[in-house]
Amino acid sequence: MSKKITTKEQAQAIIDDYDYFIFDCDGVLWLGDHLLPHICETLDLLKKANKTVLFVTNNSTKSRDAYLSKFDKLGVSGITKSEVFGSSYASAVYIDKILKLPKNKKIWVLGEEGIERELHELGYTTIGGTDPTLVEHGVHFDHDHPLLTELDDDVGAVVTGLTFNLNYLKLSITMQYLLKDNKSIPFIATNIDSTFPMKGKLLIGAGSIIETVAFASGRQPDAICGKPNQSMMNSIKADYPGLSSNPSRGLMIGDRLNTDMKFGRDGGLDTLLVLTGIESEQAVLSQSTSTAPTHYADKLGDLYELLK
Ligand code: PLP
Ligand code: CA
Repeated sequence: MSKKITTKEQAQAIIDDYDYFIFDCDGVLWLGDHLLPHICETLDLLKKANKTVLFVTNNSTKSRDAYLSKFDKLGVSGITKSEVFGSSYASAVYIDKILKLPKNKKIWVLGEEGIERELHELGYTTIGGTDPTLVEHGVHFDHDHPLLTELDDDVGAVVTGLTFNLNYLKLSITMQYLLKDNKSIPFIATNIDSTFPMKGKLLIGAGSIIETVAFASGRQPDAICGKPNQSMMNSIKADYPGLSSNPSRGLMIGDRLNTDMKFGRDGGLDTLLVLTGIESEQAVLSQSTSTAPTHYADKLGDLYELLK
């Protein structure tokens, strides 16, 4: 059964018991464009206690650089690129380090700028993505669009994530690459969240879009790079050997049971669920021992409020 953090002693035990604090972003640090209470103070407290602080997000629409700008805009200072892991970066690392796709191969992107930027940073060329002609010609479906009629033989991987400019043309071209060459082109999904929260509503998430092209092509993604998949955890552990050798000194903090909490648990870390995002207290308390988070709290800022 999960323990709720309500006392100074419990908050101090959290600081004492862990060295690595891995944060989910939306729903934990902020909600959309609003920073949650006492986030800066809590992060400062951890940094002053010499803790390693890392940020992990399934949002593939932004690159790590765009996340740094967001931290800055919200007044959270001192975050560096090496502390940020996003599903778009994890997908690019997967293609480079695991698939070892040669740099002269192109990547078809169903997604936003975050995916393009991370792939470009690793030296890959992308097609699709934010190409404006796919939006213009997608409004009224153009079945003669050259990207649909002439598939590029240099495409060596397909990366799918959330796109806010979804249309039938983009879905159709993605399907063609998934079928091409006897369905042999690797199919990478940034993350499979069915929904994500925005301004108090749940909107259609990457997973719901990916299901469409998976269903149409009769394929499942060969790799899912976001939480709870451990490929992201493994790239974090590769950068932080201390966490790798002693994962129980790590605490994964998130707002979603089936992504964040599973991600931490599967990686051998303890978990802390905050109630500022997706889940209710009732949902936490109804979990079986195998899925219950180690700890839960009303909000992340409670750590600072209880200890000040
Ligand atoms: N995907 C998108 C497009 C989002 O905007 C968000 C949250 O803002 C998420 C996923 C979930 O992100 P996180 O893992 O930071 O909660
Ligand atoms: Ca979240």
